[in-house]
Amino acid sequence: MIQLQSIYKSFQGKKVLDGIDLNVNDGEVVAILGPSGSGKTTLLRCINFLEKADSGEITMGNTHIDVRHATKNQILEIRRKSAMVFQSFNLFKNMTALENVIEGPVIVQKKNKKEASKIGIELLESVGLAEKINFYPSQLSGGQQQRVGIARALALNPEVILFDEPTSALDPELVGEVLSVIRNIANRGITMIIVTHEMSFAQEVANRVVFMDKGNIIEQGTPHEIFGNPKEERTKQFLKRIT
Ligand code: ADP
Repeated sequence: MIQLQSIYKSFQGKKVLDGIDLNVNDGEVVAILGPSGSGKTTLLRCINFLEKADSGEITMGNTHIDVRHATKNQILEIRRKSAMVFQSFNLFKNMTALENVIEGPVIVQKKNKKEASKIGIELLESVGLAEKINFYPSQLSGGQQQRVGIARALALNPEVILFDEPTSALDPELVGEVLSVIRNIANRGITMIIVTHEMSFAQEVANRVVFMDKGNIIEQGTPHEIFGNPKEERTKQFLKRIT
């Protein structure tokens, strides 16, 4: 479903991704863990071209791109197939929850507004926000805003959802409600890649855990393998530090 081959990325001469190879199967939930600065967010952003990798190949479904020769149309195809949930929600402040959710379907996908609204309301209900559809982001808690962000991603009907530390901007008491929504989506079989610091969540929800350090994938395996029996010293040290 998604195949990354030899993804390299540097910022101002500093190598942040050092040849990443990663395959994600249809319906798989992959959690990416690793120390701060190891390149997790950059990798996620390179997958849907919010950041353009310096070199490498990205395959998503039947779209195959050599990033050095990526055309505008290929990038649009990848963006159409993927949706991102951001750490800082990135909602439009002057739009209600529902308007935020239907913006992509109506403006980008040219869907009928009435039809998009119907789906948008259903999605907001499915993330527990039936009462808040006409509220503005400033009237919502962080957890509620992030649930709008998740409904907005789902509204695009993507083949994969990329979660970039979706709970790290939240007060601790609001983390649970967002994780519970993500857990529900995972159970529906949608392909997801989640960068997270929530170890117990990763352990419970992911089919596969990928550990990154210094721009490399150091080790990957089932949650049982990575948390129960990590093989690499760097993985062991990381898990020791954070648990
Ligand atoms: P992680 O998500 O693992 O914390 P990031 O991908 O956010 O790591 O960052 C990896 C490194 O790349 C960090 O050193 C960060 O400062 C640097 N970096 C990320 N984005 C940019 C950018 N737009 N410009 C310059 N440096 C960046």
